This record gives sequence, structure tokens and C-alpha cells, in this order.
Amino acid sequence: MYDVYAVREDFPVLKEVVYLDSTATTQTPIPAVEAMVEYFYKYAGNHGRGAHRLARETTNRYEDARETVARFLNAEPSKTVFTKNTTEGTNLVANSYPWEAGDHIITTVLEHHSNLLPWLRLQKKGIKVTLVSPDRRGIIDPRMIENALTDRTKLIAVTHVSNVFGSIQDVGRITKLARKNGIKVLIDGAQSAGHMPVDLKVLGCDFFATAGHKGLLGPQGTGVLYIRQPELLESASVGGGAVSDVSGLEYTLEPSPACFEAGTPNIPGVIGLGRAVEYVEKIGVSEIEKHEAKLSGQAAKRLSELEHVEVYGPENRAGIVPFNVKGLHAHDVALILDQTRKICVRSGHHCAVPSTRFLEVESTVRASFALYNTEEEVNILVNAVNALKALVS
Ligand code: PLP
Repeated sequence: MYDVYAVREDFPVLKEVVYLDSTATTQTPIPAVEAMVEYFYKYAGNHGRGAHRLARETTNRYEDARETVARFLNAEPSKTVFTKNTTEGTNLVANSYPWEAGDHIITTVLEHHSNLLPWLRLQKKGIKVTLVSPDRRGIIDPRMIENALTDRTKLIAVTHVSNVFGSIQDVGRITKLARKNGIKVLIDGAQSAGHMPVDLKVLGCDFFATAGHKGLLGPQGTGVLYIRQPELLESASVGGGAVSDVSGLEYTLEPSPACFEAGTPNIPGVIGLGRAVEYVEKIGVSEIEKHEAKLSGQAAKRLSELEHVEVYGPENRAGIVPFNVKGLHAHDVALILDQTRKICVRSGHHCAVPSTRFLEVESTVRASFALYNTEEEVNILVNAVNALKALVS
């Protein structure tokens, strides 16, 4: 197991606060920040557009980052597209796939709005959408998806890890049943990449959308979309950098990934992301997974022992612990934890209203753990939540 205290030295803000909101966004390690500073100070140019040395250096570093991210996910660089976040990835697929009226999409009640609204919006084009419900723990039974299949089903869009429950979905089984039926699968990997091993060849999905600014430890404004068969999509966003020739009223797009990255991308962000992924690789994602599961398991168990607290989600969870303090609003809990102990947790519906309502509440408090959190921080959280008893009894 890696030395969590050595790791914490790379995240200076952790000296100031108890940061338990990595599901929203993680902190970025010093080496990744330095890689971005180096870009600005030493070689800032545009990507893929120039013959001079700064443009060449920039292009090389940007493409190196693509190689790193592709290797990390076991994907081909040519199928690894940089986006600005997970949401841009799901929207890219929704807006670029050749849908026909009457096509059918299956998604779930568990989804973050990013993996829900792009499909719901397609209803305006005559696409039918079915929402499959999880069980009480937030786990989707793949048989429920199988039962929802029709002969017009084109896509199953499902989250890998629920950001509301912390539950891990059996996406391998879902892709298997989809393949058998000739149906595409999009996995929302916003809460899995960097938190657990993700091998896209093993998962066998058609699309995998994730964020750069969560488990991959990159900066905000970065994301990744894997597209198994880029030729199936016609990019909904075109322009400079995406096109190889324009003649009169005709144009020819570049092959993937360039055709999906029109306009100047977030170059420093992507370079920082590449360096951040190297950082995750060096620590080892299986070790990170074990560390986060240990902390979230401890937190969930100890919080559920408190009479005034209700904890949600399954026993085996990712690093996500949703809970409520009976008689207090989630936002009040989050504010008190911040103001009394500098604990940063998320509160609200977590951009997943149907999923939160499935718990029969309008909001929860969510403590989430990353590679840099410690057992001491679990103690601080549990003690602080325990102290809230005085306010509710
Ligand atoms: N999907 C899940 C499961 C998430 O948890 C999040 C963000 O929390 C998103 C999608 C949206 O990610 P982004 O903000 O990178 O678009």
C-alpha cells in the first residue's frame, strides 16, 4: 500500500481543510499543476496548427497526453477524444449518432443528469426512452435491462458508479447482453476512472465518457470520451482542426479523434491531465480502489451506528457515503461541518434528481473519499456528525 501521507504532500490544500468532496471534483497534484505551468512558461502554442517550434512542442505534449490516457484505459489513442467534461462526452454521442425516429434507448433512474438529459432530449426527435430502476441499494439488475429491450433498442446508457449511492454496477454483464443483441452501450465512467481499474477492452463498451477532473486528478475543463467505432458518428461540432479539406460547398473531416475536437482545445488542461494520469498510474489504481473502499466502508459503518443518522447505499461501495441527519437539512449539515471543522462535503441532489428522489428524500449529504484521504479524516467526520446529535434531540 502506498504512503498516503507522502501523497498528501502533493496536494497542499489538504493542510487547510478536510476535503471529502472528491466525487464533485478532486484536487490536482503538484506535478500536474507544474506541467501546466511549464506549458505557459516554456512552450505555449496552438495544437496541430503550426510548423514553428512552440506549436510542434505543444502538439507533441498534447498527443503524449492522449497516449497516456489511452494506455491507462486500454484504448486506442485514435479512439480517445478529449472533451471538456463527462457531460460533453455524453452529449457528443447523443448529438452525433445517426438516430432514426422510433429508436429506443434504455437508461436508468440512477443516472447523473449528464447521462440522462441528453437521452431525454432525444424524445423530441421521436426516440423512445425507458428508465430502469435500481434496487434499494442503488444496484441495477442487468435482467431488468434485458426485460426492457425491444427490437428498436439502439443504446443502453448506464453509469459505472452511482454518484448518489456509491453503488458499483455490473457493466460487464450489461455490455455482454447488449453485444448479444447488437446494441451499443455507453458507460458513464465519471466515478470509476482513476478510482478502480478500467480496461475498456474487457468492458467491451462502445462509448465511455469520463471526467479529467475527478478520479484522473486532472484540472477542471477536461474530460475523455472513448468511441469504439468512430466511423458510426458524424461529429455534431465541426470547424477548425476537425477538417482536412474544404472545396466550394464541400468539406472532408479529419479521421478520429481530430474530427471530434473542433476548435482550440483545453491544451494546458489536457497536458496537466496527462501528467495527472501518470501520477495515478504510478501509485496504482488497484491500491487506490482498496484505500478508498476501506475509508468509505469505515465511514458508512460508523455513521450508520449513530441513531440520528441514516446512511444510504450498498455495503460494498466505491468511495462515496451518502447520509442524512434526521431533523436537519442536508445543506445545514454541510454548512455546519464546514464552519465548525472545515470539513468539505457535498449536499443536495447531486445533479441526479431522480436518483435522489428514489431514496424518498430531496437531498443528502455526501462524503466522498479519494486516494489522499486518511482514517483520521474519517474520525473527524464521524465525530463532527456525532456532535450534531445535540441539535436534533
Ligand atoms: N456522471 C456522474 C456519475 C457524475 O458523478 C458526474 C459529476 O459528478 C457527471 C456525470 C458529470 O461530470 P462532468 O461535470 O465532468 O460533466
